[in-house]
Amino acid sequence: MKYYSTNRQAPEVSLSEAVIKGLAPDKGLYMPESIHPLPQSFFDHIQDMTLQEIAFEVAKAFFGDDIPENDLRHIVYDTLQFDIPLVKVNPQIYSLELYHGPTCAFKDVGARFMARLLSYFAKPADGNTGSKGNIHVLVATSGDTGSAVANGFLGVPGIDVTVLYPQGKVSEIQEKQFTTLGQNITALEVDGVFDDCQRLVKEAFMDKELNEKFFLTSANSINVARFLPQAFYYFYAYAQIKKMLGDGNAALDNVVVCVPSGNFGNICAGLFGKMMGLPVKRFIASNNANDIFFQYLASSHYNPRATQATIANAMDVGDPSNFARIVNLFGDGQHKAEKIQPEDAHEAICQLISGATYNDDQIREAMRLALSADGYVCDPHGACGYQALADGLQPGEVGIFLETAHPAKFKDTVEAVIGQTVAIPETLQRFMNGKKQTLPMTKEFADFKAHLLASL
Ligand SMILES: *Cc1c(COP(=O)(O)O)cnc(C)c1O
Repeated sequence: MKYYSTNRQAPEVSLSEAVIKGLAPDKGLYMPESIHPLPQSFFDHIQDMTLQEIAFEVAKAFFGDDIPENDLRHIVYDTLQFDIPLVKVNPQIYSLELYHGPTCAFKDVGARFMARLLSYFAKPADGNTGSKGNIHVLVATSGDTGSAVANGFLGVPGIDVTVLYPQGKVSEIQEKQFTTLGQNITALEVDGVFDDCQRLVKEAFMDKELNEKFFLTSANSINVARFLPQAFYYFYAYAQIKKMLGDGNAALDNVVVCVPSGNFGNICAGLFGKMMGLPVKRFIASNNANDIFFQYLASSHYNPRATQATIANAMDVGDPSNFARIVNLFGDGQHKAEKIQPEDAHEAICQLISGATYNDDQIREAMRLALSADGYVCDPHGACGYQALADGLQPGEVGIFLETAHPAKFKDTVEAVIGQTVAIPETLQRFMNGKKQTLPMTKEFADFKAHLLASL
């Protein structure tokens, strides 16, 4: 399968190139040139399949041309070493708990898959890295991405990871998730802010000498290998609700999926699932106060804004990067030679996706409602999803919201709101017991470069 850029100013590339490059040279996002629908027989029996079996079928539709079946099966099965249960919250609302992975957030799925795919492409026989040896992943983080990427890549052969994070600006629990790992993961504690970390990474990608000596890549969420595998669990959610409601139940034609959204990678994967035949009736994108997408739905104009800090901070995004993919998908980008403008896809988008937006007080209220009405503890992100279903479901519809992180990841916020203690799951506790190992780093590029060169 070939991958084209949403900006249409760059050549089409193979899967391995799209994964290794991340962003297209014209700054567009890579899209698969076709989407293969899955056969009816798959949906007829989906309720009897495991997460891994379902994911493998979905993965074959995207990656089957490029990766031999046995290798792909191994990558998929090794990625999904944890369950993603659908939990009944009330008769109309279900929660897809995406927080049972190593860092207790949904980004584990994409990060683990991408790590294994990169490692596969990095095999010496493939010749991709030539004499430069290991692939070197650089990632700047304000907290959550670093933990998912570092844990996703931990111990994966052929890959070294350097995480840059701003000293004193991430919570202890976040910091511990990428500074206690060792092995192929190095954490640099930068004397600066997140933007300094990001600048250091960007300068490294542009530095001629570093690129001659290293095979550098990024692992951010625009990478096709991080966002596409997120489609897996939409199918698994459907399988579980079909099993719970029983084959033939009319509500199965009225499934609404609600996604707490920031950069819109997660919901974008669900939309790909829909294009592959997943019987979801409609989607709701739930925003916090950073409601650029909500405003776009209302006005057809896309107006990025400066980011505003909220208690659902992983959704604090003022210019969602995957918006371009959604516009492309609905503007039927596969068949267009030109970049598609947001206005041109608006009508089609509005037919399938509606929006919601909640400020911090409303998010707190949603967390209290989920607990008092349904006995369910949401994290601040999942709470946006829960509330949008509570507000927006029509009679006869059944809703699934994506619970994107474990409430214990936002322990202080959640406890202050609901007035109860939140137990820390063992996976998180293990990080807390680990010993922090970091190297201090200035915000000067020359120092960062010298550090990298010294590691050769
Ligand atoms: C990253 C993240 C989101 C937003 O997901 P997008 O794919 O960027 O829309 C929501 N909730 C949590 C907990 C996250 O970490």
